[in-house]
Amino acid sequence: MSAQTPGVETYSPREFHRQAHDALGNPQIRANFRKAMDGLMAKRRESFGDWDLEALRELGANIRLRALAKLPDLLEQLEANCEANGIRVHWAEDGEQACRIIREICESHDAKSVIKGKSMVSEEMHLNAHLEAAGIEALESDLGEYLVQLNQQTPSHIIMPAIHLNTDEISEILHDKTGTERTRDVDYMTAAARQQLRERFMAADVGVSGVNFAVAETGTLCLVENEGNGRMTTTVPPVHVAVTGIEKVVEHLRDVPPLYSLLTRSATGQHVTTYFNMISSPRKEGERDGPQEVHLVLVDSGRSRIYQDDELLDTLRCIRCGACMNHCPVYTRVGGHTYGTTYPGPIGSILSPHLMGLEETKDLPTASSLCGACGEVCPVKIPIPDLLVRLRRESVGEGRGNVAGAGVKRTRKEVAAWKGFQWLATHPAAWRAGTSVAGKLRALTPARLGAWTDYRTAPKPAGTTLHALVKRHQASKRDPAGESDPAGKSHEEERR
Ligand code: SF4
Repeated sequence: MSAQTPGVETYSPREFHRQAHDALGNPQIRANFRKAMDGLMAKRRESFGDWDLEALRELGANIRLRALAKLPDLLEQLEANCEANGIRVHWAEDGEQACRIIREICESHDAKSVIKGKSMVSEEMHLNAHLEAAGIEALESDLGEYLVQLNQQTPSHIIMPAIHLNTDEISEILHDKTGTERTRDVDYMTAAARQQLRERFMAADVGVSGVNFAVAETGTLCLVENEGNGRMTTTVPPVHVAVTGIEKVVEHLRDVPPLYSLLTRSATGQHVTTYFNMISSPRKEGERDGPQEVHLVLVDSGRSRIYQDDELLDTLRCIRCGACMNHCPVYTRVGGHTYGTTYPGPIGSILSPHLMGLEETKDLPTASSLCGACGEVCPVKIPIPDLLVRLRRESVGEGRGNVAGAGVKRTRKEVAAWKGFQWLATHPAAWRAGTSVAGKLRALTPARLGAWTDYRTAPKPAGTTLHALVKRHQASKRDPAGESDPAGKSHEEERR
């Protein structure tokens, strides 16, 4: 991947534990996320009302599964139809290559200024840093993205990039960086940002956007948004470059409405978004607006590797609604930056290991209580908890897994411990002797056992084994006077 923009606040998935610790110690972050996530969860619930949500999720999952089953053919069909419509299609094996393609398009037009609509794939490949290194200014136009860019941060949520900031913090950023008044008036701040951005739209040489759904049968690129910046990005500059992962393709135009309904309701609790853009071609003869050139860059970046694994393939169903993170008890407490990846939360914890390798991201699959909330709310029924378990297994396995860096968490000590346990558990006499000795020495169990006991009491071996307890219980049933238990201890006392 390309380097990140110099000066931008950086987080690393390798530092997940330290970053989580810092975030948990910051009451402002916790309050901002709690408030925002409570609101989003309530809106999602209300927006589905009395719809048969399960049936709709089933439909969404099936549409995505069908598209993935035919992915190679659909990508070819998409390319052919886009090209027939006048959209130039480019293939990129990784982020580096995708950045290069977009830079070359910019250079071929002598572009000095790029305006960007929201695109997580462009974040994933650090496009802004790449363009800026080539002397091309890249400005985010989604309000949340604009704010985090001004504040030299990265997005903390895939749908609401600036959700970690509250009104006072936003006012301060706008005041510091653009000279607006300090205020709590949201309308004033929005109008000020709009004014600044509008001028930049008019001056931009190239517009770069993401894609929500790429329709193979018609060669149409669908873009879902609320602010109108997506429409401006894709229509005002003379050149439009859409960039997306190869998994975003759907087969038919009729597949889009159910996915769109699921996406908007799951993401922000909206029945429809303010804008829904369908881009099918550059400006045609006689038309008065629209770009003269449209390009589509299809990025792989490890996706075809996931595609070859029957289980992990489910990750590619994602429609990037963000509902899994809004409902995740870990994400809502530590926030998005803690993960140190473009995609935070549960979807990030299953997607990032593929994009960056398990060596970089080995702690992310463990950043979950496995409560199952993410899997229950996912509109396309991705079995996220199962995939987290799979990646945990892969990270401690023998290194032959399908994800780069498999086996990275496997340590000799742990392997020896499990082998020892396996031997004990399959040799009853040794097990009985071991548990009996452990029971007798339980008073010597240390009160602290590393990080485990930071928030928990250290477990102690039971004073007596289950077999002994059962025997005693059966004896006391035969002999209620308790003569068979001369010590006269209750079972509870024995266990303590
Ligand atoms: S995994 Fe499911 S819930 Fe999470 S962002 Fe993707 S589609 Fe939404």
